[in-house]
Amino acid sequence: MNRILVSEVGPRDGLQSIARAMPTEAKHRWIRALAQAGLREIEVASFVPAKLMPQMADAADVVREAVKIPGLTVLALAPNLRGARDAIAAGAHKVTLPVSASEAHSRANVRMGVDEAVSQVGLVCEFRAGLPSDRRPGVEVGISTAFGCTLQGEVDEDRVFEIALALAKLGVDTIGLSDTVGYANPAQVKRMFARLARELGDRAGGAHLHNTRGQGLANVVAALDAGVTTFDASLGGIGGCPHAPGASGNLVTEDLVFLLESMGFETGIDLDRLLVARALLAESLPGEPLYGHLPDAGLPKTFHRATERP
Ligand code: ZN
Repeated sequence: MNRILVSEVGPRDGLQSIARAMPTEAKHRWIRALAQAGLREIEVASFVPAKLMPQMADAADVVREAVKIPGLTVLALAPNLRGARDAIAAGAHKVTLPVSASEAHSRANVRMGVDEAVSQVGLVCEFRAGLPSDRRPGVEVGISTAFGCTLQGEVDEDRVFEIALALAKLGVDTIGLSDTVGYANPAQVKRMFARLARELGDRAGGAHLHNTRGQGLANVVAALDAGVTTFDASLGGIGGCPHAPGASGNLVTEDLVFLLESMGFETGIDLDRLLVARALLAESLPGEPLYGHLPDAGLPKTFHRATERP
């Protein structure tokens, strides 16, 4: 299996942790540029009350525009049934729901305990089952703080898989693991994703890794070893988690694509066009720090895309 799906989360995970809002038109342009670079899946918005997150007040508009882009899978995050209904009404192809493995993070992030968050997911799965078969979106969950939590500290591994199995039983299509606060190390990542594949089979989802402590790409390689084929990343590395102090640092899409293509994994993404999308992002949010080694250093002369290897 040489094909890897890079799922871009910048327009949601990234923008929601930046205090000022990107204008809706600029979001449309940026998302189109990301798709033009070859990204086939983009998480574009979060359906939360505008009072709590004014940056996401235009979520429905952003989804309605993004679904017009041919071949793009449009994801939206929703913390509960109400948000999920709005996301589905706007036409999102997939709804992603946050469930934390840490009780403390769950209460801080979605104001619900873990079991309550799991039952919200159950309600969304029931709602979906009641829709006409051609209008049923995908439902996925990334289990947050699966590798440790700034609020709670240690997170019990068995508990993570208990939650994952409960979600699978409710009918969630894929269940991934998220290192929300950048606590994971490669040995742990390999062990946990190997177990996820064993326990969930084809419902085992992707990796949402952070680079908070510089372990992001090492953790990607460990997850590849465990057979993971979907990775979340954010252009320019924008975003983190508001309830994880100091946890800036999603994986940088540009660096991730470079790593994967260099190793011979096909992503379908064109790095030059990705840098065009990065320029648009920089232009829309002047002064906002963007991260990434590849954008600073440029491509090495010896670089070949996976599909163009000698
Ligand atoms: Zn993240």
